Amino acid sequence: PPAYNQRYQAVYNVLVQLQSIYDIKKIADLGCSEIAFFIQIKRLETIEEYIGVDIDEDTLDRCSCRVTPLNYDYLSSRCAPLTVRILLGSASKPDVRLKNTNAVVAIELIEHLYPPELEDLPYNIFGVIQPDVAIFTTPNADFNVLFPSLLPNKFRHHDHKFEWSRQEFEDWGHNLTLRYPGYEVWFNGIGKGPVGTEDLGCCSQIAVFIRKEVKAESNDFNIYYSIVREVE
Ligand code: SAM
Repeated sequence: PPAYNQRYQAVYNVLVQLQSIYDIKKIADLGCSEIAFFIQIKRLETIEEYIGVDIDEDTLDRCSCRVTPLNYDYLSSRCAPLTVRILLGSASKPDVRLKNTNAVVAIELIEHLYPPELEDLPYNIFGVIQPDVAIFTTPNADFNVLFPSLLPNKFRHHDHKFEWSRQEFEDWGHNLTLRYPGYEVWFNGIGKGPVGTEDLGCCSQIAVFIRKEVKAESNDFNIYYSIVREVE
């Protein structure tokens, strides 16, 4: 399957695995872009609320219709209703509508952030929202030598501000667990390369943070985002 599908599947699998431990009911999809991960996540019967956040208004205007139920959804309806909100704003801002989020998902988001946003994002997630689970995926720069058309020191996408090696991503993650000791993290790869390239790792990399301590409610929630679409 294409790399993006492998990413969605990997994140979905982690959520399913952790579901029984954390009773995940509310998911925030930061950098939801074309709302493609939502199509996967709505199969998870136990989810009661999905919040998609992106900073790109045109993309949200074009794609937010994807959250409206399809005929098929009425034929096989869910056990519990699913509330969906698509919000416009920066993932680095603490918005009150993300309160009580159990799982934050940021699939190929961080490499699109400018340094100040990248700096602020962890506080929003681990300091304010404090979800049970936070999952990030990002390209693995070690793997780039396998792309023949990619020139040295160039990125896979023109909007990428950086691409991290496995070491850099793991350093970032471990540093966050030092800053936010209530969390622990583990890493993995997504999308294997051809036989013989195992030492380069996978196409993407994933970090899964899990909260191991009771959260201290934050007072830093504000209203930053505007609503693009709401479906109950
Ligand atoms: N998560 C999507 C998926 O897997 O289908 C793809 C994400 S796309 C590669 C990166 C997205 O991040 C873009 O839609 C971009 O608009 C969004 N983005 C960039 N900076 C952002 C920010 N500060 N807050 C929220 N979204 C942001």
